[in-house]
Amino acid sequence: MMQKIAADTIYPVTSAPVQNGVLILDDQHQVLDIVSRDEVSDDVQYFEGAVCPGFINTHCHLELSHLKGAVPEGTGIVDFVLNLQKIRRFPEEEMLEAAVKADRDMYDKGIVAVGDISNGSSSFPVKERSGIYYHTFIELIGFNPAFAPAIIEKGRELQALAGTLKTSLTAHAPYSVSEALFRALASEEEIISVHNQESLAENYFFLDKSGNFNRLYETFGLDISFYHPSGKTSLQTYIDYLNPAAKHLFVHNTFTSEPELAMIRERIPQAWWCLCPQANLYIERSLPPVADMMRQQCQITLGTDSLASNHTLDILSEIRTIQAHFPEISFEEILRWATINGARFLGIEHQFGSLEKGKKPGIVQILPEGKARRIA
Ligand SMILES: [Zn+2]
Repeated sequence: MMQKIAADTIYPVTSAPVQNGVLILDDQHQVLDIVSRDEVSDDVQYFEGAVCPGFINTHCHLELSHLKGAVPEGTGIVDFVLNLQKIRRFPEEEMLEAAVKADRDMYDKGIVAVGDISNGSSSFPVKERSGIYYHTFIELIGFNPAFAPAIIEKGRELQALAGTLKTSLTAHAPYSVSEALFRALASEEEIISVHNQESLAENYFFLDKSGNFNRLYETFGLDISFYHPSGKTSLQTYIDYLNPAAKHLFVHNTFTSEPELAMIRERIPQAWWCLCPQANLYIERSLPPVADMMRQQCQITLGTDSLASNHTLDILSEIRTIQAHFPEISFEEILRWATINGARFLGIEHQFGSLEKGKKPGIVQILPEGKARRIA
């Protein structure tokens, strides 16, 4: 049975918006066509507002969903990490229940695919049973280069528990991953997602080993006397440890400069830049340099981060936040970030990210009052 979906505006994303069009799907929700309203007479379902393809959330931590509202806002990243560490452990059952709820909530709000960070296996069963496509980034942490081989091995063990889930190993952040571990990942993985320049303190730590990250390591009781600062920013330092042929997602980028964006454009052809504006406001009370990114023609994607640093896992809400702070950027442009760009980063653009013939991208209605819901 074909489904005919009429809406005030249809956003195919890879072509111009269609006013008063009808989206035709087959019984498997595969896109057949978009036609004008007067070409279709019967069985049309009308949806108020707009219709677009399902959203791609390129950065989430589903396993932290039980921490909603548990970490204070506006502390900066170092105290955020310290606070998180104190409360992270919960009964397995509670963690699972919160992850199930968060997964269902993302589905209902039109998110069809997620790049999701895992430090443990607690969220694996939820992701395996979900209607959402997950790429699981098994995140490695280790600042002492001596431990790099053992950390990779631990990551592979976790990966073996992931069953049918799509997984890869990745790096947590420049301040928590040694050069040796970065290089080991670069030689083994074709897709990397890394938290980048989420705070100014991260750059200070690389420029002259000053700032708040020393307090982080002191609190954890870790001796970092082996570490010598490079005299450059974090990104200028670890770019040398990356594989230029691999896909990279730089997440947050709150304190990335325009020359650094240009540097990546030149040296890492397959780079994407993930914005998590609501998490940035939650943790650092600042926003990334979106105008610089657009000037440098960065491929931008959107992420929600976790419920530890956001009030909701809702891509439309991230779009609204960007619109509120950057009113000069068109909705159509931001919608590309929320759909096709993320699909291309995750390598799933054959199915997701646009309303093109033959795709099964999930169909989302954007209601006039600013809410999204999955309709097919
Ligand atoms: Zn994150």
